[in-house]
Amino acid sequence: MSVLYRSTRGSKGLKTASEAIISGIAPDGGLYVPNSLPKLRINLNSMVGMDYKEVAYNVMREFFTDFSEEELRYCINSAYDKKFDHEEIAPLKKAAGVYFLELFHGPTIAFKDMALSILPYLLTTSLKKQNMNREVVILTATSGDTGKAALEGFSDVDGIKIIVFFPEKGVSEIQKLQMRTHRGSNTFVVGIEGNFDDAQNGVKAIFNDEEVKEKLLSKNSMFSSANSINIGRLVPQVAYYFYAYMSLVRNEEIKLGEPINVVVPTGNFGNILAAYYAKNMGLPINKLICASNENKVLYDFIKTGIYDRRREFVLTSSPSMDILISSNLERLLYILADGNSEVVKNFMSKLQVEGYYEIGDSMKDGLKDLFAAYASEEETFQAIREVFEGDRYLIDTHTAVGYSAYKDYQSLTQDIDTKVIIASTASPYKFNTSVMGALDEKYKEVDEFSLIDTMSQISKVPVPAAVKDINKRPVLHNRVCRKEDMKAVVEEILGLNK
Ligand SMILES: *Cc1c(COP(=O)(O)O)cnc(C)c1O
Repeated sequence: MSVLYRSTRGSKGLKTASEAIISGIAPDGGLYVPNSLPKLRINLNSMVGMDYKEVAYNVMREFFTDFSEEELRYCINSAYDKKFDHEEIAPLKKAAGVYFLELFHGPTIAFKDMALSILPYLLTTSLKKQNMNREVVILTATSGDTGKAALEGFSDVDGIKIIVFFPEKGVSEIQKLQMRTHRGSNTFVVGIEGNFDDAQNGVKAIFNDEEVKEKLLSKNSMFSSANSINIGRLVPQVAYYFYAYMSLVRNEEIKLGEPINVVVPTGNFGNILAAYYAKNMGLPINKLICASNENKVLYDFIKTGIYDRRREFVLTSSPSMDILISSNLERLLYILADGNSEVVKNFMSKLQVEGYYEIGDSMKDGLKDLFAAYASEEETFQAIREVFEGDRYLIDTHTAVGYSAYKDYQSLTQDIDTKVIIASTASPYKFNTSVMGALDEKYKEVDEFSLIDTMSQISKVPVPAAVKDINKRPVLHNRVCRKEDMKAVVEEILGLNK
């Protein structure tokens, strides 16, 4: 069956997957969603013995129905190769009575690699399929991890330029250096004086700026997005929930068909939406536990049905989740509203104009698959200590938010029997000051770079290539701008005013 894509905000016209991947965002500002959520064609049973790539193929072909088998397998094989330092790509680790799904074995040691290592192949294949020989400019806002993962994925890809905006004061030193030292002649990295929401709003505005679009077109060029608003980012993430479930079955931790809980530390709602799609496809998931840090807009929304961004933006030790406007929630709203895009459009404009919206009771009913919890900074550090003290297994701050949320879930529901997978979204090496500081106050005084070796000694995990000697690499990108100047910077980089 062929799946077509439409905008959550209702503009007319259906797109094929490849068209939706090229566009990134719909012309009306909405996000592309499948006209109906696909089911898995094959039996779960036949998936148990598959390796990561085979699982990914069987999941992704249900969404990208205009790709041939050969095209899709080419994308998957090119993405999930030796760039990952674990042969399983996304291994499960049992510790502290739960299963951590390690999604950080890619080149930038955060889970964004799972999707951004394949997106460039999906995009270039889509361009070929549509016979488009335009240059594509990838414009991306990052809370720290998307940026580097996108730079890795798109570096030196023919016909593509990539511009990354990040909040100058909202990322870790290692995240900042990872981006500023990036090589690749087609890459541009810009810090902004503002937070992630400012960066994301700025990028969305440039995307929809008719004047800029015109100028680009006259240079035979166009924008696309590497943020999780692109359906080509979301779909590859569905695959690892299937893979993780099959790993549990293979290891005889569960019986096939047995429901599990899934915990996802959440920011832009992309990763957890992928789990929601997996559940809809037929994966036996009981509860989806949505874990937030102190920027707990999603927690409040799931509890009360009111989404309210009118609050202070908090900088936490899990910066990749410091977000007050969760873009992908729009795709969930679309499902909750039974595909009524008028409803979605009204909420989104109310959010923009008044800063909040409230869903009605029937939509609230649809939230029952989700359980929300959040972790304070102290609870986050406590979670790191707890997991480490038990099994000497070191988790990062984002994963710790997930673990802490799971503990809340357990004590509130007394559900202690259902097996649980916690999405482990980053390597502790990426946030080492916070992680080591959680273990012992004395590390808070030590600089981020010397902590790398200390971490390796205590965790017995070798230093990943991504951070090895990172402070010795030359800084190649110095640009910083005000949030008001993002458009001008893009025009300058692309030479649009010449
Ligand atoms: C991006 C990110 C998240 C949040 O993922 P979303 O898909 O935006 O919800 C969580 N943890 C880490 C380490 C990340 O990089």
